[in-house]
Amino acid sequence: MLVDIGVNLSNKRFKDDVGNVLQRAQQTQISKLVLTGTSIVESHAVIALCEQYSDRFPDMLFATCGIHPHDADDLRADSIDRLRALAAHPQIVAIGETGLDFNRNFSSPRAQQVAFEAQLELAIELNMPLFMHERDAAPRQLEILRHYRDQITAGVIHCFTGDKKTLFSYLDLDLHIGITGWVCDERRGLELQKIVHNIPLQRLMIETDAPYLLPRNMPSKPSDRRNEPAFLPYVVQAIAAARSESADEITAATAATAMQFFNFNRAM
Ligand SMILES: [Zn+2]
Repeated sequence: MLVDIGVNLSNKRFKDDVGNVLQRAQQTQISKLVLTGTSIVESHAVIALCEQYSDRFPDMLFATCGIHPHDADDLRADSIDRLRALAAHPQIVAIGETGLDFNRNFSSPRAQQVAFEAQLELAIELNMPLFMHERDAAPRQLEILRHYRDQITAGVIHCFTGDKKTLFSYLDLDLHIGITGWVCDERRGLELQKIVHNIPLQRLMIETDAPYLLPRNMPSKPSDRRNEPAFLPYVVQAIAAARSESADEITAATAATAMQFFNFNRAM
């Protein structure tokens, strides 16, 4: 049993074949998928997908609702109220994707911090875990998280690609770490391959971040280069090799960690 904690299933690259993508995920023993909500509109969209496919794939689909740092400029006076209403949906299991991205600054750093803190406070109020993104913003993200950490139930830094010092800083705050196909990259994933063994199994979760980050260790890659949940075993393989553990161990441990982190049993 595998759990993919980050799937952008509302992305337009999936619009024609969601059912087939989910069927292939099921055939690959992916028992649960957490669809990522990145804005109010996308959060509505992932909830709609959860509802639409619930009969065909029972207890398999869950989602987050939040405002991605790239969309932080769109935060309005009523945005948090709208997220609070969305979060009441039984298949919403976390607040996010939220955090800071100073790599491209698609939204202003100031707006990103305002949106991040507002979502941290919402997660605290609702007693829900956080699904977080961070790129080139670790010092500020850590500073904000240190301020709120005591009140936060749990939080995952998804698609972690930082260095050892940053990894240890997040682990010191007792946060979870999400690893994607970045670790499969024989060039830019090298540093991550060297440090991934430092993540305790009860803090490690895995994700495809599909349709992005197609695992580079796939022997034959789809011609459209689209990543999908059924390719999650390649992420497991790369982590297992880097940690000198078996793929079965990584599969079982990350699934158990995700079950606890997202409290799926309660959600269902
Ligand atoms: Zn992200």
